[in-house]
Amino acid sequence: MAFSQAMTGAIQSSSNFLLASLAAEDLERIGSSLTAVSLEKGALLYDPGDEVDAVYFPHNCVISLMTLMQTGEAIESATIGREGALGLLAAVSPRQSLSRAIVQVAGNAARISAADLHSVWQESPRLRDLVDRHSDALFGHAIQSVACNALHSVEARFCRWLLSCHDRIDTDRVALTQEFLADMLGVQRTTVTVVARTLQAAGLIRYSRGVVDVLDRPGLEAIACECYRAVRQTYERLLPVQFDAEVGTGPGRPAVGAPPQTG
Ligand SMILES: [Zn+2]
Repeated sequence: MAFSQAMTGAIQSSSNFLLASLAAEDLERIGSSLTAVSLEKGALLYDPGDEVDAVYFPHNCVISLMTLMQTGEAIESATIGREGALGLLAAVSPRQSLSRAIVQVAGNAARISAADLHSVWQESPRLRDLVDRHSDALFGHAIQSVACNALHSVEARFCRWLLSCHDRIDTDRVALTQEFLADMLGVQRTTVTVVARTLQAAGLIRYSRGVVDVLDRPGLEAIACECYRAVRQTYERLLPVQFDAEVGTGPGRPAVGAPPQTG
């Protein structure tokens, strides 16, 4: 496909922060290889061990990286949206996926083959820098999730996930099933129901039939654990990221069930 002005315009107005930050000459290099794709909710992009043959730059969809256990249990280790890309390290060299990558929130993305992106990566210092920085940010995201999943309450992690998702989409409405939420948080569906009802009773969300409406962001920020801010700040420090929603400057509330402060 020849590089077209239409495609140039689409990329320049991209809501993917990585693509939007590329210089014009890099956009020239990459533009002819990008394909606009619509990703359906629940679409399986990679399973562990799959060759990463394409890289996805989300515009308004959200992709979860899930770690799978032999029992079939799963838990989310990172979320990828407009601040980043799925499979970006495949720009450096051939890779196999370490996680299950599944579309949690449907939307649009730009797709490029790993081979084509590798060609651009070889010629573009800017892209090489972005790939390095994104790799650091994603690692920081994942290790924060390790601590979060072990130490923080389901309620705090639910709010963290919802805020992270809210940063990456264009609306206040997130379509989520109990099953997806339970998988992301590594808990039973009944636990998700209890937490959702609690947050709804507090006026922070409206939850019905697999749809969550964010009603009170500051209220959710007050309950979310520190991991929400930590991960967001990591992306903002390392990458050209400008999330729309402001975030309060105060520390998150201590996790529910955390031991009381002493001294
Ligand atoms: Zn946490």
